[in-house]
Amino acid sequence: MSPMPRKNPNKTEMFRDLPSVDELLRSDIGRDTAAQAGREHATRLARRAVADVRASLADTATKAELMQRTADALASLWRGERLLRIRRVINATGVIIHTNLGRAPLSKAAREAIVSAALSANVEYYLASGKRGRRGAFAEQLIVELTGAEDALVVNNCAAAAFFVLKAFAYGGEVVISRGEMVEIGGDFRVPDVLERSDATLREVGTTNRTKLADYQNAIGKNTRMLLRVHPSNYRIVGFTATPSTAELAKLAKSKRIVYYEDLGSGALVDLSQYGLADEPVVPRAIKDGAEIVSFSGDKLLGGPQCGIIAGKRKLIEQLRKHPLQRALRVDKTAFAALEATLLSYRQGSHMTDIPVLSQLSARPGSIERRASRLVKAVGKTPLTLKVVEGRSVVGGGAAPDVHPPTFLISVTSKKLSARAIEEKLRANVPPVISRVDGGRVILDLRTVAKSDEAAIVDALRYLG
Ligand SMILES: *Cc1c(COP(=O)(O)O)cnc(C)c1O
Repeated sequence: MSPMPRKNPNKTEMFRDLPSVDELLRSDIGRDTAAQAGREHATRLARRAVADVRASLADTATKAELMQRTADALASLWRGERLLRIRRVINATGVIIHTNLGRAPLSKAAREAIVSAALSANVEYYLASGKRGRRGAFAEQLIVELTGAEDALVVNNCAAAAFFVLKAFAYGGEVVISRGEMVEIGGDFRVPDVLERSDATLREVGTTNRTKLADYQNAIGKNTRMLLRVHPSNYRIVGFTATPSTAELAKLAKSKRIVYYEDLGSGALVDLSQYGLADEPVVPRAIKDGAEIVSFSGDKLLGGPQCGIIAGKRKLIEQLRKHPLQRALRVDKTAFAALEATLLSYRQGSHMTDIPVLSQLSARPGSIERRASRLVKAVGKTPLTLKVVEGRSVVGGGAAPDVHPPTFLISVTSKKLSARAIEEKLRANVPPVISRVDGGRVILDLRTVAKSDEAAIVDALRYLG
């Protein structure tokens, strides 16, 4: 029997045998970390690694083992931190507007526009005259063309848009809203809270499922500033329901000389009812039906960057433009660049192919099935079990909760690995592949995967097997 390496007999001696921070930084892992993270930050991490190993000392260990453990701890701290950085991932979840994965994936033109604007750009500068220009003017002009509104203004997101409109036009007065629209959207946007913070008083009318025009009419008093309609994006009340039309509410508001505002939430610039989205408000229609002011998100069904778009009557938009809050809610040059490119696709009529949200939404199950079968074949011989099965995709982004486009999924199971373990390994891939775990299997939905990312999934599955 070969002699055992000498183990430390007690903790005190082991503490003494722990590497110092300097020793750790001189190890291979220490030097690598310092090269990537910078000396100062690597020292901070090394200190934490030594402290972590010291705190977890239970069994006996040799000096070499202690060095190895501290180096591993340092590597793991640095790896964990690197994973915090925002990076590209492959969304194979089948959720088209995946809020946790950055909502709308941008079109190629929008991505290029962001890169082009990233250094200096003519964001407040007219190239034709060399004079100072107005931020967002071209994007706003495109919104006007595409929605039929008189004017438009872009702010940071739709929550900011709603807050701004209420603050500017309902401040200190009453807002009449249907009880069925007192909704919470995505956990931190609650209509009643936003109203309260904009110093407007709420006047709920009707019942959860039915509100009549007369309910609105009877609630309007001398202190009423606004009729508000909020699209209940992420849930549906079905069955015995009723609500007045936009045209009826617009007419009522006009006769009472109060503002009529619709928060459309996702809002579609074009009619998407043929893809099952008949319940999603169409922005140009709301404007045509008489909504004086509407708001909608840039990164939901529109398929652009994060922003909130306000469109409507010139007189009202002008007031917002001059409001002190406007500056606090304004959007940066890269968002404007991406928004312009996205809107230009609509103007050119190439939106259904250019804009990922729309091309994914309109992808046919048959073509997704062919892509899935081809991908499985490309993986070739593998210990994994890969099957192409029928399933459903999700629109996401708090839009169309009851719409589940039929799709074909790649189901992944393994004799050796649990579904959780497969999901984790796919997530650890470079680039990370984000999948769903469903009933003991991992599923991949190619509806939300760009064709150019299929090869990376093939590689990830081969490596996994
Ligand atoms: C999503 C949504 C919002 C919030 O929009 P963000 O762009 O996420 O800020 C507000 N109102 C409605 C009705 C929505 O659906």
